[in-house]
Amino acid sequence: MKAIVVREFGKPDVLKLEDNAPDPTPGPGDVLVRIRAAGVNPVDAYIHSGTYVRKPPLPYTPGFDGAGEVERVGADVKGFAPGDRVYIGGPGKNPGGSGSYAERALVLPAHLHKLPSRTTFQQGAALGVPYATAYRALFQRAGARPGETVLVHGATGGVGIACVELAHARGLRVIGSGGTDAGLASVRERGADVVVNHRSPNYTDEIMRATGGQGVNVIVEMAAHVNLDRDLGLLAKFGRVVVVGNRGRVEIDPRQAMGRDAAVLGMTLFNVNDADLAEIHAGITAGLANGTLNPMIGRELPLGDAARAHEAVMEPGALGKIVLAV
Ligand code: NAP
Repeated sequence: MKAIVVREFGKPDVLKLEDNAPDPTPGPGDVLVRIRAAGVNPVDAYIHSGTYVRKPPLPYTPGFDGAGEVERVGADVKGFAPGDRVYIGGPGKNPGGSGSYAERALVLPAHLHKLPSRTTFQQGAALGVPYATAYRALFQRAGARPGETVLVHGATGGVGIACVELAHARGLRVIGSGGTDAGLASVRERGADVVVNHRSPNYTDEIMRATGGQGVNVIVEMAAHVNLDRDLGLLAKFGRVVVVGNRGRVEIDPRQAMGRDAAVLGMTLFNVNDADLAEIHAGITAGLANGTLNPMIGRELPLGDAARAHEAVMEPGALGKIVLAV
């Protein structure tokens, strides 16, 4: 089969399209999925650089997220049959699983979910990491409740748009930040009540004004190394910041948290257990079916352009999700 194969760690050009990669063979507990679209996440780019905490043995095929049709099921698998439309959503690749940047991938049934008929394969490839992360951050870590105000700090990308849609559907008031006018227009269209540009000098004043000086109850933070200190000053009493994205160290003033009984919460999707994962995907598939979740695909590239996609996912000016057509 065709697959992206990484044979050495390094810059994006280590992602090479190969025509004769071996077809994966399902064991009794596996499902073989014909991938139609693969989702590109920043973590895929960290991993090929070789500097990330998770370093797969070489050679490997990247990709946690994808959508397509079930092609074959192992003898012990229940609940899936050839032809089912599905998307992959697990806490990182399953043991023995294979990457989604390929024509076929092996997936454990617990990490496979039915795709509602109204959801495209491209949209299905935007769910596994971004929507699950957004759900986890908002509802399982921050305990966000209807009527509260959330700041999605970095709302224009894969996780950000997911946060906006999920929070809007649950009855929260949503403030979304982004770095471009096009990105902010999409954030508003997906349900944000207020949008602010995180590259403009006084955008935090706009956030405080929008909350009548009270501050926000929850912040989902995509760039904690830049924003964590100022986030603490934007919180209402008993506010919570969830650190989703971080690319360096930062100095904070803990007094800002002390005076508000505020909490800084970390999260990584790799830590999600099976029960929490089942809740997350029940919530996501219900939202897809009833139309409140409608993942936004900003860019679709052919599988052979995986290297270009990895460069793009690390550049500023996010616009929803980047996917590879397989
Ligand atoms: P993405 O699609 O590339 O989006 C990146 C987002 O960060 C964009 O909205 C971007 O806005 C925003 N951003 C850039 N500079 C910012 C700043 N100074 N302040 C606030 N926001 C800023 O990436 P993604 O898939 O949404 O992931 C977002 C981050 O979360 C990444 O760092 C990723 O590694 C991390 N992540 C973590 C987990 C986890 O389990 N903890 C899971 C998924 C993702 P503009 O481009 O409009 O400026």
